[in-house]
Amino acid sequence: MIIDTHAHLDMEQFRDDLPSVLARARDAGVRYIITIGSDIKSSRAARDIAAAHEEIFFSPGFHPHDVKSATEADYGEMEELLKYPKAVAVGEIGLDYHYDYSPRDTQTEHFKRQLAVAKKVNKPVIIHSREAETETMDIIASAGLPEAGGTLHCFSGGPGMARRALELGMYLSVGGTLTFNNSGALRDVIKTAPIEKLLLETDCPYLAPKPLRGKRNEPSYLKYIAEALAQLKGLSPEDVMRITSLNASLLFGICEPPKDGAIVYPIRDSLYLNITNRCTNACVFCVRNSTDFVKGHNLRIRNEPTAREIISAMERADFTRYREVVFCGYGEPFLRLDVIKEVARAVKARGVKVRINTNGHALLINGDRFMPELKGLIDAVSVSLNFPTEAEYEKYCRPQREGAYKSLKEFVRRAKEYIPEVGVTALAMPGVDIEECQRIAKDELGADLRVRKYDEVG
Ligand code: SF4
Repeated sequence: MIIDTHAHLDMEQFRDDLPSVLARARDAGVRYIITIGSDIKSSRAARDIAAAHEEIFFSPGFHPHDVKSATEADYGEMEELLKYPKAVAVGEIGLDYHYDYSPRDTQTEHFKRQLAVAKKVNKPVIIHSREAETETMDIIASAGLPEAGGTLHCFSGGPGMARRALELGMYLSVGGTLTFNNSGALRDVIKTAPIEKLLLETDCPYLAPKPLRGKRNEPSYLKYIAEALAQLKGLSPEDVMRITSLNASLLFGICEPPKDGAIVYPIRDSLYLNITNRCTNACVFCVRNSTDFVKGHNLRIRNEPTAREIISAMERADFTRYREVVFCGYGEPFLRLDVIKEVARAVKARGVKVRINTNGHALLINGDRFMPELKGLIDAVSVSLNFPTEAEYEKYCRPQREGAYKSLKEFVRRAKEYIPEVGVTALAMPGVDIEECQRIAKDELGADLRVRKYDEVG
């Protein structure tokens, strides 16, 4: 499923063939589309299109080009349009200093006024900003966003604008410009933005992505943008579609995010197993503190699955298609050693590689006799060292058991006797001495070190 969060389906370019445009979108996996108003006439038309098609939602608003002609009556009608259940946002609104079709002070006045309308009805805002980065962000910061949040549509700003928007909890929406040859600077910005804060859009009929640049754009071309974003982020196109669809659902309330936690879930070319949500740490930075979702998957399971249930779920996912099966870190897998052994046996029997992501407390949890049982079952283990000192580990990981830091180091040393690939990870948290982590990994533990981004999981 993909969601096109910004289309202009009311425009004359779609007058003759909207049904076939929508059929192609469905065939391309575009499940929902938000069609956007730019003045009162197009907002009304957007409402009518949404009313006629189950998969279409709409957003009324006055584009900065058109605010010069917005009247009091238009604002009254906009508030009426916002009462429709399929009205999911206010926009597009904002500033455009490239064309200056409306005087700048008029743009500012109407931008602030529409932010106030959005706050009143508590719907997210869809913001257009062109050559007005600082002014746009200053107005958002001073006027404030609705509690429902907002997005910068067809994001084309620099790193400063992205940082300010992300600090305000906003989303950045990525369009066809991401695929253009001359968009290197944009790709640099989007590469560092968390995928959990990105949306996909076509902005059709404008800005068709490569390889269709110059043609009329349409929602079915969204897949090219998803592919470009996947390449930039080192994810699969399916990952990008799933994650950005969840993001759009969370922002616009278009559809319910998955309610049940997944037992098995793919990311890139790995199949992850979610066997417990319990852990012997209570890390201050743990993703479980802030969300149930990792890379678009709900991982909050109500009951711990049995080994049989996990194996059945793996088989349904055809796990042999994946490069590896990974016991994941949304909880500590070694709290369920028997399940690890039974499931790993089933995976190895089909010739697939097995990895465990662990906090390294296995010896504290299971005693020190079980390690030989892992031989031949587990191909790789990744242990979260996180910090170079016990004091930092105690402060930020808050282990429930004494001696956890020393024990995880001992686990790494012992694991090398039974597991072919043993690595440790450090956390690129501000102030953490990564060089010292490197030294510990190499000199004390004889293991490779991988540095994990502080704000990225999965
Ligand atoms: S070890 Fe992993 S799962 Fe456990 S609390 Fe820390 S971050 Fe969360």
